[in-house]
Amino acid sequence: MELQPFYRDTWVEVNLDHIAYHVQSLKQILPEDVKIFAVVKANGYGHGDVQVARTAIHAGANFLAVATLDEAVALRHKGITVPVLVLGATRPQDAPLAAKLNLTLTVFQLEWLVQANEMLNNEKRLRVHLKIDTGMGRIGVKTAQEINEIEAYINGHQAFYLEGTFTHFAQADSLDKSYYDQQLSDFKRLLESFRQLPEIIHCSNSAASLRFPEGHFNAVRFGISMYGLSPSLEIEQELPFPLKEALSLKTRLTHVKLIHKGEKVGYGSTYEASGDEWIGTLPIGYADGWIRKLQGQEVLVEGHRTPIVGRVCMDQTTIKLPTSLPVGTEVTLIGSQGSELISVNEIAQKLETINYEVTCMVSNRVPRVYIQGGKIVEVSNGLIS
Ligand SMILES: *Cc1c(COP(=O)(O)O)cnc(C)c1O
Repeated sequence: MELQPFYRDTWVEVNLDHIAYHVQSLKQILPEDVKIFAVVKANGYGHGDVQVARTAIHAGANFLAVATLDEAVALRHKGITVPVLVLGATRPQDAPLAAKLNLTLTVFQLEWLVQANEMLNNEKRLRVHLKIDTGMGRIGVKTAQEINEIEAYINGHQAFYLEGTFTHFAQADSLDKSYYDQQLSDFKRLLESFRQLPEIIHCSNSAASLRFPEGHFNAVRFGISMYGLSPSLEIEQELPFPLKEALSLKTRLTHVKLIHKGEKVGYGSTYEASGDEWIGTLPIGYADGWIRKLQGQEVLVEGHRTPIVGRVCMDQTTIKLPTSLPVGTEVTLIGSQGSELISVNEIAQKLETINYEVTCMVSNRVPRVYIQGGKIVEVSNGLIS
């Protein structure tokens, strides 16, 4: 058990049992031969890369996926030895590091392979997955000819091993299936142009793996819903098992005071008391990812909702209290308290964004406390470690 210290009354709680539950539940609905990539990019969507990775692997995930090589290197430095796929583009000059650390890279340009080949020393083969763009429009090859050229080049060069191929859906979280169907059929058509199909073929993100678990090749990439969040609001009712949010964001009152009619609060003095009011100060602000647009958002104190008043500052936020409460009283910004819940989706709606962005936004300055079996099993402080 690793308990890194932290010295502030603001923290994220991550329920690792919820992460494990989603991996296990997905495994139950997938055909037996379908493997799971646990997607832990962006510090595990803000939950903590290595803690989520370990939990997911223990619960039955087979591989990990991240967006950048740095994220993959970080996992190796933290002792993760399972295969890690870098989903985004990597520079050719960084290919030798990937090979050395046994990391798998995504490739989609012949020129990239030629350049990387010059730098690889052939001692350790670089595992690659060929990305096919079927309509996402970011990275990936689009034609049978490109697939043939890249496959032939890889087969002719010892430095590489073509282990997998994949595509990514742009609308698997939409109730209208037509764009998804089109991408899937284009992917199937392009797979026919391989002389020999790679071993791992994958296309499904959370939305596709939960909604269409039957049949799509032999691996899925499970991201947002591993964290207990629906890929979109419109498909939430359609999901095959209930999701349980893993992340809560908590803080404690640092100061409580009575203000009188006409007294003002915060930068720009945007809030003015209309009578005697109790104001509480919270040690969290936009530098923690609790951004200014959250002015007016409710928080939970003593099991009740109460609003943020005045501007959110870099490091502090002020709330209206129903009554005088002691300094140190716990305040929940995301999560449940008593019978009340402020979900990640509620914050996303307030910010006119998606739940993905909300958990990613909680900054490195906020320590993460990991809960398993109702107990704290690990504490991680991104600042002091
Ligand atoms: C982020 C990402 C995923 C995971 O998507 P979720 O919607 O979070 O499940 C899968 N594949 C690729 C290529 C990604 O970039």
